[in-house]
Amino acid sequence: AKGEGRNNIQLFDSRLNEAAAMRVRTETRLRDALEHGHFLLHYQPQFTTIGEHIVGVEALLRWQPPDEEMVPPNQFIPLAEDTGLIVPIGAWVIDEALAQLARWRSAGIDGLRMSINLSAHQLRLRELPRLIGRSIEQHGLQPADLELEVTESVAMRDPESTIGILTQLRDMGIALAIDDFGTGYSSLSYLKLLPISRLKLDRSFVHDIESNPNDAAISAATISLAHTLGLEVVAEGVEGPAQLGMLTQLGCDLLQGYHFSRPLAAPALADFVRDWRASH
Ligand code: C2E
Ligand code: CA
Ligand code: CA
Ligand code: CA
Repeated sequence: AKGEGRNNIQLFDSRLNEAAAMRVRTETRLRDALEHGHFLLHYQPQFTTIGEHIVGVEALLRWQPPDEEMVPPNQFIPLAEDTGLIVPIGAWVIDEALAQLARWRSAGIDGLRMSINLSAHQLRLRELPRLIGRSIEQHGLQPADLELEVTESVAMRDPESTIGILTQLRDMGIALAIDDFGTGYSSLSYLKLLPISRLKLDRSFVHDIESNPNDAAISAATISLAHTLGLEVVAEGVEGPAQLGMLTQLGCDLLQGYHFSRPLAAPALADFVRDWRASH
């Protein structure tokens, strides 16, 4: 039995080493991907509840290693965050998304706002507002063309410095949204202090909204709270007409989800917007 214990420890040890080696390999591959342009963005449109106008898109990061399948963000963003690589990757996302918005505009696809996800690391960068400002200017855009999404838990971390930097961004004219709202623990009094303009109702509440009274109640309360505070609500994960109907009835402002469109590569998004606008 003693020997077995030692074997278990050795096995555990070698598994730890394997995990560490794997991390280092992935980190190297992520650096490589950034250097060689193997990241790309997909874009998911956002619709007004009333009239179903497309008013914005959310940029969603993808990793496309050559000759391999596309890697979804949940499989590499956590490591990018742990290693701090999310900072240069995130800077690329901001610049690429804004460049794309400018390209669409020149092609006659206008009236879109670009929403970009920010991670905690990026919010600790003092030069973030300057970096974003420069990118906006370089692409001939206005700050109001951009919305930044931060999750509740990111916004709640180190509240003082976060509020400082978010306020700076807001004062530049950039819109801010709280992502995945309802899944973290934001105190409502703190929410009042954040310089935000939108809440994104997490898709876990939207999924069963028409069959689960608790989810419906949480959604209704969130929408009513948001409106009281002068904020708009974006529902994420709208997958079908029942959710659309319920959210419209509850007065939700904007909708995003597979019911309308999956996230699309830039050319497909352009086609989608043109077709939608031609037929609605
Ligand atoms: P998120 O910000 O909450 O993004 C929404 C996710 O929901 C996206 O997953 C989107 O594809 C998915 N989605 C949209 N509509 C529906 C629907 O109707 N049903 C369902 N089941 N899912 C839907 P995705 O693209 O895999 O992104 C996952 C997460 O990765 C994002 O969650 C965000 O937290 C993170 N992420 C993506 N891009 C970036 C980025 O550029 N920077 C950072 N820091 N995080 C990013
Ligand atoms: Ca988001
Ligand atoms: Ca979200
Ligand atoms: Ca999420």
